[in-house]
Amino acid sequence: MGQRHVVFFPLMAHGHMIPALDMAKLFASRGVKTTIITTHLNAPVFTKTVERTKHLGMEMGLRVIKFPTVEAGLPEGCESLDQVTSDDLIPNFINALSMLEEQLEQVLQECRPNCLVADMFFPWATDVAAKFDIPRLVFHGSSFFALCVTESLRLHKPYKNVSSDSEPFVLPDFPHEIKLTKKQLYGRETEEAETDFTKFLSQVSESYLRSYGVVFNSFYELEPDYADHYRKVLKRKAWHIGPILLCNRDAEDKAERGKKASVDEADCLKWLDSKKPNSVLYVCFGSMATFTTSQLYEMAMGLEASGQQFIWVVRREKDEEDEKWLPEGFEERVKDRGLIIRGWAPQVLILNHEAVGGFVTHCGWNSTLEGVCAGVPMVTWPVFAEQFYNEKLITEVLRTGVAVGSKEWNRLTSDGVKREAIENAVKQIMVGSEAAERRSRAKELKEKARQAVEEGGSSYSDLNALFEALRSYRS
Ligand code: UDP
Repeated sequence: MGQRHVVFFPLMAHGHMIPALDMAKLFASRGVKTTIITTHLNAPVFTKTVERTKHLGMEMGLRVIKFPTVEAGLPEGCESLDQVTSDDLIPNFINALSMLEEQLEQVLQECRPNCLVADMFFPWATDVAAKFDIPRLVFHGSSFFALCVTESLRLHKPYKNVSSDSEPFVLPDFPHEIKLTKKQLYGRETEEAETDFTKFLSQVSESYLRSYGVVFNSFYELEPDYADHYRKVLKRKAWHIGPILLCNRDAEDKAERGKKASVDEADCLKWLDSKKPNSVLYVCFGSMATFTTSQLYEMAMGLEASGQQFIWVVRREKDEEDEKWLPEGFEERVKDRGLIIRGWAPQVLILNHEAVGGFVTHCGWNSTLEGVCAGVPMVTWPVFAEQFYNEKLITEVLRTGVAVGSKEWNRLTSDGVKREAIENAVKQIMVGSEAAERRSRAKELKEKARQAVEEGGSSYSDLNALFEALRSYRS
């Protein structure tokens, strides 16, 4: 694309900023000038990589804008969705996002790019791009599968025919027979009365239709039925260019993603080096899911009862609260086979170590893809967002995972999964002949992911197709 310039505007949340940074790097590696827009407190997520990429001779820049924390009534220092710990403040956060419109316009005015890739959380970005006569691409950070579920729900409202929140319904007009319950649906999608949040979701859906198209961090071979369904049945314009994380080739890029790890990476790898291949379970729930003390306690008991070796990432600092979530004497009893990381783990580095043979995940799309690229089978434990949809893809379509039995969408706490369920699911993915079959399917997908981004692969080619489309764009 020669001297073309693409501006990326990700949502302020780690699950969105990490892949956006990778995407900007991927575009830059293909000769495109890229600029990322973020806010002051989020800039450290990007600075190192931007500097390193520039040193390698690629054109990559960062533009920092002001986040209206005070104006939106958010607590001081809150500039990312990960930091919004109360459901009541979500409307304030969304309101803060809407206040960024003018600053986005200013950046575009100064940069005059050829394309804007803006997060789904900025539905109004389509109109801003239109003012400059440039295409706006939506980045929503999830799978084709999840967007197909959302569309099936929006178009057919199958949840209207059930008599209770826990009665399953089948998704109409869908490639596989997939059942969901109202309890598992994205936020308040099914609410009858219009609220600010449902209004916002409608604006998001509408902006998909009005934008130039959607870029997917996915690859064709992972979900061919859904890539086809999205384009051919739902008739949407889309490009699949992932797994974007595979553009990170060196250890430094794999080690520090989003935040500095709370453990010494070398120590962590040394611990893994002492373990046999496929013998360690990695347990982590992304950057936002928070569990109650009682649920963490059950998790500990389940992990211990499974008899497996594990690395368990818990997003609680040692002095943050009392340690009631840890069963008495737990750390001492599991000291030879378990490692607890409090805070942030070097996830991609850990998942790619040959000792890791299973992943307990909340099914956030980045984690899911990182698991796919590492070739590990998964225990699925969805919490909120579109994670219950991704669980269905993993357990029923790809058949590389086992569901722990999480039943209800809940942004901040997740409760009700018992230790026996955890123990069983963990054993099922780590030992036995079915575990071996799941692992071999997972390894096949890992290989397909690698091929997709190589020259001539499906994602490599679709990125070329996207560049071609942008080159010939006429508003
Ligand atoms: N992550 C990490 N270390 C952690 C927790 C998360 O590196 O301790 C990264 C993870 O590798 C992924 C991202 O944070 O890239 C989380 O995104 P995901 O979509 O999985 O979940 P979300 O945080 O959006 O719920």
